[in-house]
Amino acid sequence: MPYGVRFRYNAGIDEAPPTFTFRSGIWLNLHHCLYGQARRLLPQAQRERHPEELLVKALPKPYGDRWTQAVTYYVENLAVHDLLRHPELRGLKWYLAELPDTREPDPEVLPEELAEQLTAAMPVYKEAWWERQRRVNVAYIETAEDLAAHYGPPLAKRVAASFQARWSTEALPVDMVYWARWSGAYTTLNPDHLVISSSVPGNQGPAALEVLFHEASHTLFGPRWGAVSKTLERICAQHQREEPRDLWHAIMFYTDGVLVQEVLAEGDDEVYVPYADKQGLYQRVPGWLTFRQAFTTHWLPYLKGDAGFDEALEQVVLAVTVPER
Ligand SMILES: [Zn+2]
Repeated sequence: MPYGVRFRYNAGIDEAPPTFTFRSGIWLNLHHCLYGQARRLLPQAQRERHPEELLVKALPKPYGDRWTQAVTYYVENLAVHDLLRHPELRGLKWYLAELPDTREPDPEVLPEELAEQLTAAMPVYKEAWWERQRRVNVAYIETAEDLAAHYGPPLAKRVAASFQARWSTEALPVDMVYWARWSGAYTTLNPDHLVISSSVPGNQGPAALEVLFHEASHTLFGPRWGAVSKTLERICAQHQREEPRDLWHAIMFYTDGVLVQEVLAEGDDEVYVPYADKQGLYQRVPGWLTFRQAFTTHWLPYLKGDAGFDEALEQVVLAVTVPER
């Protein structure tokens, strides 16, 4: 049985699966709705996918004016920045995630005008969007919780062992929002916080399990930290090669996809297609097709327990095309 071999990396570690705290808060949903609508109005974001339901509706006055003002504020101040990478947007997200539905944002904590815009937009959001979006969130949480309860423990072990990492012992907060980001989900660290879109087609059904564990995997390693990236760095230095951009992230996608496919196959006989394959990520992102080939040839044997971690990563590095220094 390959798993027995695979878990040699995990010997002696009593690895508890991560626990997830799912939420669907109104302020974070309002924020992402405004951001999404504003983002659509930016020329540089035209190719991003946004659900139709997010479009600005013809709202009756004075609702329409209040909403338009809030969207305009987002266009002018926030939408140009990335939800994942911009420090202020990360801080704002965390603040709104923690803000109870029944309270209003504090103008002494947030920029005063932003607090005002959010407060003014809230009644409009409640009237026009929230009820439907809340229902979609709640249904998604049910699916994700069921999948995590059923497949989470064996999956979590394999994920942590494969990445040579350990899960945090603290519960991971997972905020469900109707629309999250062009990527469909994103995760910020310190404090660790997952935000997942409940509406995008790619996140639906059993993919909810992979999306959850992919986002959670971002708490296990990143571009410059954790065993995978540190080993890649060392191997690339040894071979005097430039580290292929985002190779670590492609490894995360591939590994989580394969492992989810495995645990689902053990549960029933439906064939699960990993997220990156189904969404055409390897075709879309330049260079990722050769990454995928290298993973199938050199990384999959490691995942099956037939090769060592360092050795497999070294073979991957040597197989992908990278310019010499
Ligand atoms: Zn990711």
